[in-house]
Amino acid sequence: MAEAERPSGSAPETGIGRKIWLDGQLVPWEQATVHVLSHSLQRGSLIFDYMSVHETPRGPAVFRLREHLERLLVSAELTGLPLTLELPELEAAVFETVAANPGATSLKISAYIPSVEVDVVPQDDAVSVAVAAYDPIEDVIKRNRGRYHWRPELSVWIEKERRNRRPDIVPAQAKTAANYASPMVAKWAARKAGYDEILLTDVDGYVAEGPTTNVFWVDADSALHTPPEDRVLHGITRRSVIELAKHDGIPVSEDRVLPDALMAAAEVFLTGTTGGVIPVIALDGEPVGEGVPGPLTRRLAERFREVTSGHDADFAHWLAPVEGR
Ligand code: PMP
Repeated sequence: MAEAERPSGSAPETGIGRKIWLDGQLVPWEQATVHVLSHSLQRGSLIFDYMSVHETPRGPAVFRLREHLERLLVSAELTGLPLTLELPELEAAVFETVAANPGATSLKISAYIPSVEVDVVPQDDAVSVAVAAYDPIEDVIKRNRGRYHWRPELSVWIEKERRNRRPDIVPAQAKTAANYASPMVAKWAARKAGYDEILLTDVDGYVAEGPTTNVFWVDADSALHTPPEDRVLHGITRRSVIELAKHDGIPVSEDRVLPDALMAAAEVFLTGTTGGVIPVIALDGEPVGEGVPGPLTRRLAERFREVTSGHDADFAHWLAPVEGR
């Protein structure tokens, strides 16, 4: 689709040069904006999904695209957002956006209500869809003011006071902006106290997940565990790690765990699109195991990298190549 025309007489594009797919048009990155009083900004009604784009032997490819888009449709259903685009249209928008943005490593698809509204329930509930493909380091982090907090191995605080992931409010399976408010408050406080990341506990006090990651732990018998699906976002990396572990003969089970029991684990790691498999080396200031990434964590991190970069024929079907679409 054609790039939206710049209004005559306006300055030439001096921005980052990326294009965002906005309701069927590729527009310059800087023009993909919403009004400050829009419903989604004021009420948190935006839903989104975030996936990775990889340079593979078959060219640029999106990791588990179908699963990510299916999850976006679940988020729309769980929040009542009247998203009218269907899976094939969303898929075509993703391919068009990746093709228009060479070198992109991440892709975010957002669905939101741009209308300026008065009530919590929007009078005009038309949903806009935006697809952005970019390089988070070059296009975002390096251009922002301030320092970006990043560590390859994490010191994690388990948040026990501010309970999250309550099934009686917006369920954890919805990737909606509003669901990040409570984790943001807790994680910001933990950062000020010197931690890199937090783990959220559910309404019954069990460890659930991180604000943008799922959690796994390894017991003394080298078996893998992760909290069950009912109180966590259905992470695509979580699902992939479970499938890879089973494929490789590593025992995996879904179990509830209290913070004290997690602290006794041999290894702990987080999973998510941004970081893949990320080692946790301390919990509440105490070392996990030897205080260094454990063998199973390192093995799965490497395994996941191989698969996402298209170097494992058994899992080549997890990558959707963009060329030839
Ligand atoms: N939990 C939450 C709440 C998240 O926001 C994310 C990031 N999408 C994850 C888990 C990890 O999911 P994924 O592996 O699909 O990135």
